[in-house]
Amino acid sequence: MSDDGVGTGPETGGDEPPTRRRGDSTGTVFLVGSGPGDPDLLTVKAKRLIESADVVLHDKLPGPEILGEIPPEKREDVGKRAGGEWTPQEYTNRRMVELARGGNRVVRLKGGDPFVFGRGGEEAEHLAEAGVPFEVVPGVTSAIAGPAVAGIPVTHRDHTSSVSFVTGHEDPTKDESAVDWGALADTGGTIVVLMGVGKLPAYTAELRDADLDGDTPVALVERATWPDMRVATGTLDTIVDVRDEAGIEPPAITVIGDVAATRDRVVTLLENAGSAPVRSASESDGSGADDDATDGGDGA
Ligand code: SAH
Repeated sequence: MSDDGVGTGPETGGDEPPTRRRGDSTGTVFLVGSGPGDPDLLTVKAKRLIESADVVLHDKLPGPEILGEIPPEKREDVGKRAGGEWTPQEYTNRRMVELARGGNRVVRLKGGDPFVFGRGGEEAEHLAEAGVPFEVVPGVTSAIAGPAVAGIPVTHRDHTSSVSFVTGHEDPTKDESAVDWGALADTGGTIVVLMGVGKLPAYTAELRDADLDGDTPVALVERATWPDMRVATGTLDTIVDVRDEAGIEPPAITVIGDVAATRDRVVTLLENAGSAPVRSASESDGSGADDDATDGGDGA
């Protein structure tokens, strides 16, 4: 699909493939990535679509600045939060279809990129099954942008030639971990963990058990690009205590690997560094982990 429909009302069709089943009045759903939260990191297309949308269905992850710019009367919060209210995915799916069939131009706004741990895939399949036209609008993923704004290049060529993106919080209905931490350690590359604040003790232990050096640099980037972004750094051995001491909470990105130490070499001149509650790695005494099942409200 090529139309971003800028400035038009609900689509009335015309050039769509004949296989599409839709009535003249069916609107389009745009699965849009918001980027990590700084409104300047919205794509031009995302910004235009948000402005021209009849309804914006959103999670919490786009962050306060982007959400704050959307008129409240056209926003609907379908976010999920650990310990808070949950909007079942089925509701979101149903609502997208209902709104589109009502002739609305719908933006389903998701943090980062809609297809990176964002349930965008499920939503696309649901829309296709329901015969609702949709378009995917990629966004700047926090998995790369979060480390970047903190001064961490996920593939600095002096240190690594690969990067893996993994979830720290898996679907609780799965019996076994689908993430093979040992295999990740073996790559010798950068590991970027999303939804990984609460389970930090578990997967850092697994990585150590897989012989990843306890001195491997680790950084936590909390609320990347939000006005109150923070960054905390340590090592595989110390990062749980660093997290507890700094009180790092979701949403945050965990970066594991030598690239994480790049921050220390550039931070003095880095304008968007985030406040850095870094403590000496050897002074730790923290314990325990927060429960952040859905980590950042969304996993979604
Ligand atoms: N689709 C999103 C990821 C959704 S999964 C993307 O591409 O960025 C939710 C997780 O994303 C959070 O638990 C956190 O690990 C990460 N995340 C999203 N936005 C973030 C931000 N601004 N700062 C730090 N982490 C963020």
